[in-house]
Amino acid sequence: MPSLRSLASGTARFVSDLGRGLLDVVYPPRCLGCGARPESPRLPLCPQCLQSLERAPEMGVAARLDRLPVGGGVFDGALALWAFDKGGTLQSVQHALKYRNRPRYGVPLGRLMGEAFAERHPAPDGVVPMPLHRTRRLERGYNQSATLAEGAADQLDCPARPGLLDRPHPTRPQTGLSREERWRNVRDAFTAAPECAGGEWLLVDDVLTTGSTAVAAGRTLLDAGADALYLMTLGLARQ
Ligand SMILES: [Zn+2]
Repeated sequence: MPSLRSLASGTARFVSDLGRGLLDVVYPPRCLGCGARPESPRLPLCPQCLQSLERAPEMGVAARLDRLPVGGGVFDGALALWAFDKGGTLQSVQHALKYRNRPRYGVPLGRLMGEAFAERHPAPDGVVPMPLHRTRRLERGYNQSATLAEGAADQLDCPARPGLLDRPHPTRPQTGLSREERWRNVRDAFTAAPECAGGEWLLVDDVLTTGSTAVAAGRTLLDAGADALYLMTLGLARQ
């Protein structure tokens, strides 16, 4: 049962969404990087700021995962679109997507992820968003990774499959934890649906830090019989 508090915050969010929707018509949103009006009101950045984002190093995610005790060999391919710096433009985008109730930015950003993925790998059978625990999803009103997955799936012409992976066990926020603590915190957080067996899936998340969460989710899908797994994140946190 959702708590009274989360129901109340859901109602408040609905009312504030209505208000924001009207405001966006009267005052179209500005670029989160420089404040100019983006050419596409659906993207959070103007073309110049989008161009100025630094691409993540090609092998950056794989190298990060290899540093985890059980990170190697989980994904057949792993990449991030952009380098993610604290205080950088991409962090403004991620914060808007995650904390400032701008889920609609996720779909066009997800399309860009799908485009970059398609340059390197064949289309998967479906795109699986990194799930949020239900309590957090209710508080936020949506899962930001699900909106990225929708865009990526659309671009790759395959379905988004949010039902394949669930996160029934709540975990502490990963911020401030060491690599080992992060892994212990999330290793048993996920369950996978039996339908993932035999499929090739692309797991999508917003920002990769140590990769513990991605590896825990990936291992759960593999244990349930997934045939091949790929990972793509919007950002790779610089360390
Ligand atoms: Zn700009």
